[in-house]
Amino acid sequence: MAKRGYGARAFGGVVLEVISWSQARALGLKRYFTGKPCKHGHVAERQVSSLTCLGCLAPKRKAWNCANPEKMAQYKRRHAETAAGREVNRKASARVRAANPGKATEWARANPGKARASKAGWKARNPDAVARDAADRNLRRVQATPPWADRLAIRAIYEKAAEVERATGALHEVDHAIPLRHPRVCGLHIPRNLRVITAAENSAKNNKLIPSLAIDFSAPGWAHLHEPQAEAA
Ligand SMILES: [Zn+2]
Repeated sequence: MAKRGYGARAFGGVVLEVISWSQARALGLKRYFTGKPCKHGHVAERQVSSLTCLGCLAPKRKAWNCANPEKMAQYKRRHAETAAGREVNRKASARVRAANPGKATEWARANPGKARASKAGWKARNPDAVARDAADRNLRRVQATPPWADRLAIRAIYEKAAEVERATGALHEVDHAIPLRHPRVCGLHIPRNLRVITAAENSAKNNKLIPSLAIDFSAPGWAHLHEPQAEAA
């Protein structure tokens, strides 16, 4: 069965099912679709309550939204207070992100303060996902630690990050030069693949493989699992 059009999904390639006004009303739907153009030529859904074509309504709505910013902000807040509303927002932003690759990273780089606040807000709202992510990362670290790894040296690097952070007051993190999670490579959790960098540098890198490292197999972090002498060097 074709998905029944509802709302702006009509613009997302959803096949709209033809449904008469009376059928839609009987089903309690807010919109119906005849498949026939309105007098302005839009082949779009119409509102059950007013029989108005959504294509005709869109510019009027946009004008009203622009003229009433406080009311719009209030609607948006109320919408985001419900789980269903947040799900709608999540899907909409995923669509926008998919249509504009790289744009989100660009925005985050241009607005570091806002990006940090947004991330912190998301973390506060999604404690389960944060815990899951931490457990995943921990597991990846364990899996990427060869038996011969110098655990004391690894710990010292993490202690150094904390020390630099105390001394400078800027957030520092331990980064894997060659990422542990990447489609093409798997870095190791060993001292030679670890470096202390600022949290800002780390979030800008965001798991990307540095191009020079991608081809430089002599870079720190490349080592065979069964090569203890490489680690001792
Ligand atoms: Zn129309």
